[in-house]
Amino acid sequence: MLVPSLTEYPQVAAGKIRELYAVDDDHLLLVASDKISAYDYVLPTTIPDKARVLTAMSVFWFDLLDVPNHLVAWDDPRIPDEVRGRALLVRRLKMLPVECVARGYLTGSGLIDYQQTGVVSGVSLPSGLVEASKLPEAIFTPSTKAEVGLHDEAIDFDAVRALVGDELAAKLRDLTVATYSKAAEHALTKGMILADTKFEFGLDESGAVVLGDEVLTPDSSRFWAVDVYQEGKVQPSFDKQIVRNWLTSAESGWDRHSGEAPPELPEHVVEATRSRYIEAYEIISGKSFSDWP
Ligand code: ATP
Ligand code: MG
Repeated sequence: MLVPSLTEYPQVAAGKIRELYAVDDDHLLLVASDKISAYDYVLPTTIPDKARVLTAMSVFWFDLLDVPNHLVAWDDPRIPDEVRGRALLVRRLKMLPVECVARGYLTGSGLIDYQQTGVVSGVSLPSGLVEASKLPEAIFTPSTKAEVGLHDEAIDFDAVRALVGDELAAKLRDLTVATYSKAAEHALTKGMILADTKFEFGLDESGAVVLGDEVLTPDSSRFWAVDVYQEGKVQPSFDKQIVRNWLTSAESGWDRHSGEAPPELPEHVVEATRSRYIEAYEIISGKSFSDWP
């Protein structure tokens, strides 16, 4: 079979970082790019190999986790050469309109909601929790899928039931928390805290719930290194901290509240960030990135 070129597949969607192509009625190609975002901006500079690293990481987790998922192949004649290593051939699903977030630690939007109301996505939490506190148990904190350019909005469990029905809602919650917990347990054995993550599920042709999208990558999750973890402080992001530090340093000349787009990253920041992504993959998977296509 002749290897197709990407232009032969109709594009069905484009996000900030990834694109989706139709291979046939039942299959899609999920193609990652090397784009990186920080402080709600897609930066003008790309990080070489980021897309391949994140794709490799998703595949590692799909293999490890015991959940029905959409992955068909990462090395297949239907994957064009130009995107090999950063594209996944997946089963086309009917995606459910809920971002399935699990949190084991409190930070980001979860912390803000907690500080204002004591509640995150309808889940009441004990008082006295602070930035980066470990939660008594992992919780399901779903949100809506926002339109492009808008932020996802936290919703409570009743809202999920209204969106997908009681039975599916309970299934999404249980699968999300169980899958997060299994992944967090694995990460911890590698010295990494999986603070939170977002899954997207869909239904296959038989109506079964299937895990879709990318999974447990630094773009969909927060990873912290155990050895520098400290409750009460904003944790350094394992993958993006180098970029964030530089952007907020005097050297960048950028004011993140100015409303202006961020500047190009210098070569040393690009290179350090690239190494960081590879390190994250190798630590978590125990594999060598040089073995990935
Ligand atoms: P962004 O992540 O940039 O905010 P986005 O979520 O719309 O935007 P991407 O994440 O790049 O864009 O695109 C992935 C899209 O593909 C999502 O809408 C996701 O729901 C969808 N998707 C993932 N897996 C499947 C699948 N197996 N079948 C159908 N759609 C899928
Ligand atoms: Mg997305």
